[in-house]
Amino acid sequence: MIKFDVLTLFPSIVSPMFEDSILKRAIDNNLISIELHDFREFSKMKHHNVDDTPYGGGAGMVLMCPPIYDCLTSIEGYKDALKILMTPQGVKYNQSVAKELVKNDHIILICGHYEGFDERVRSFVDMEISIGDYVLTGGEIPAMAIIDSVSRLVPGVLHNEESAPTDSFENDLLEFPQYTKPYDFMGMKVPDILLSGNHQEIDKYRLEESKKRTKERRPDLIKDTEK
Ligand code: SAH
Repeated sequence: MIKFDVLTLFPSIVSPMFEDSILKRAIDNNLISIELHDFREFSKMKHHNVDDTPYGGGAGMVLMCPPIYDCLTSIEGYKDALKILMTPQGVKYNQSVAKELVKNDHIILICGHYEGFDERVRSFVDMEISIGDYVLTGGEIPAMAIIDSVSRLVPGVLHNEESAPTDSFENDLLEFPQYTKPYDFMGMKVPDILLSGNHQEIDKYRLEESKKRTKERRPDLIKDTEK
């Protein structure tokens, strides 16, 4: 069971993701839980402001420390939880990071917005994560990407038929090409080997295809020793 807490100014952006499909089922089965916290509610300012102009001048608004700190410390068990800041300046997220995160039982994700955070917010967290070298308007999509990818690694969240040890990035390989009915679509036929019923040969073919595909598309995934 992993508990996720998300600090966000826009809970309504995040909530639909767990009202359907696999994450909803995971919550119903008590395999994960997700709680959203709007840190605007912790603002002590007259108009519930959470940001202000940057010291030293410049464009944009910067999120202030107090509402984020007060919201964070209101969460039960926050001291022992893994606290993660969403920021394009963090470690680049990938499947290996997801596999590390799934070892935790309580993860708190802090989403920024506007221009970013007061630098001192960094002192509240254990790690900073970026989901890629591009800038989004807020940390909600990054937090959702992390919750989704970590949750599907929690045992029981995926049913057998959904979980794939052949998923891309398992064993540093991309998944092999998959086919389903019809056999012939506009003249494009399914490779005969897949209809042969010879599972040993099929496994061999698939591993070869995985390797070929990884080499073509993502040579960076192949370890030096395997090149
Ligand atoms: N001015 C900041 C970017 C602010 S973007 C800078 O240059 O670093 C606003 C917020 O969106 C960030 O605080 C962060 O929470 C989130 N965000 C944007 N892009 C992101 C990314 N690639 N990964 C993780 N979070 C991101």
